[in-house]
Amino acid sequence: MERFNKQINVTKPLTPNTLMAADMITEVIDSEWLTNNGIKHQILEQQLTDYLDVENITLTNNGTTALLLGLKALGLTGEVITTPFTFPATVEALDWNGLTPVFCDVDPVTYNLNPDKIEELITERTTAILPVHVFGNPCDVERIQEIADRYRLKVIYDGAHAFGMEINGRPSGQWGDMTMFSFHATKLFNTIEGGGLAYNDINLKRELNLLKNFGIEGPESVVRSGLNAKLNEIQAGFGIEVLKLVPEEREKRYAVKKVYDDILGSIDGIRIVTNREGLESSYQYFAIEIEESLFGCNRDHLHELLKDYNVFTRKYFYPLCSSFEWYKSLESTKKENLPVAHNIVEKVLALPFYGDLNLEDVKYISNIILYIHESHFVGSVVN
Ligand SMILES: *Cc1c(COP(=O)(O)O)cnc(C)c1O
Repeated sequence: MERFNKQINVTKPLTPNTLMAADMITEVIDSEWLTNNGIKHQILEQQLTDYLDVENITLTNNGTTALLLGLKALGLTGEVITTPFTFPATVEALDWNGLTPVFCDVDPVTYNLNPDKIEELITERTTAILPVHVFGNPCDVERIQEIADRYRLKVIYDGAHAFGMEINGRPSGQWGDMTMFSFHATKLFNTIEGGGLAYNDINLKRELNLLKNFGIEGPESVVRSGLNAKLNEIQAGFGIEVLKLVPEEREKRYAVKKVYDDILGSIDGIRIVTNREGLESSYQYFAIEIEESLFGCNRDHLHELLKDYNVFTRKYFYPLCSSFEWYKSLESTKKENLPVAHNIVEKVLALPFYGDLNLEDVKYISNIILYIHESHFVGSVVN
């Protein structure tokens, strides 16, 4: 099969019409109010509160600072139970709060924290659970809450992949004490860099607003050791424009998913990891799991072979966070304690997934994968 004559990347940012963006930038510059809770910031905060159907949202300059401030605002100490199968930011936010991650193994189907494994990790130092809705597959929110309630633990979700989706009929941002969202350029909804926290307890609003602005309460009063985590007006304005495009982008990604599903779903050795649709899907990623013995080659090999066709996939999330050098001494990072995570991290591959991906190209990518599969069995067929 021919290789693509253009590079196909794993994602492409959703961007506003450039004329709209230029008008927006002019408006911000003319207003002479560039940051510090300006009008665009206020509008976007309200629009996201409505869109995500949550009680409160606090915007920040990225998802990692949102998580940093969220953990701080909840007053956590000691140990936090989390997943090894996530983006580094999840556990780095724990480190920067002086919290020790306790890694819990994951579910082999959803790749999320396995609730059956949480309780055995709880000690008197545990103060919270930090689960991640990996690839928009929802965590078992009911069971996690039940465990948290029983042990009086806080639950803060990393919802970086869960923008605009529902879990058990309720918006993703309504579960737990808080949910962090990332508005990074690679995420479905983006403000180039940006993030936010959704939460039900209105009392957290004042605390988070203090923490994201150096703890400054008034012109002569600093009441917390805060951070600078403010989203500026141009990025907020960018977000207002991008949010308008999200419904159509979701439709387009659904069509892309259908083409992948049709072809890849019937190939031996491929399991589609991101199999939710409609309101239950964030359409953030399209990920597959490769079973070498049935598919014919392993994930790493497929990842390399696809490059020859100009198709660039990603091994999200490789390596596991529990494999980071600075966690070596932690008991919970031992490989024998995380068998499922160590297994799936070698098998998962995120494929190109964005609305502007031409459906003929999606079909062609799928057929390349089918061809790679079949070519590995030619020998055995002949024999
Ligand atoms: C993107 C991402 C983050 C970090 O968000 P930033 O906005 O880039 O800081 C955290 N967790 C997960 C799971 C992510 O995918």
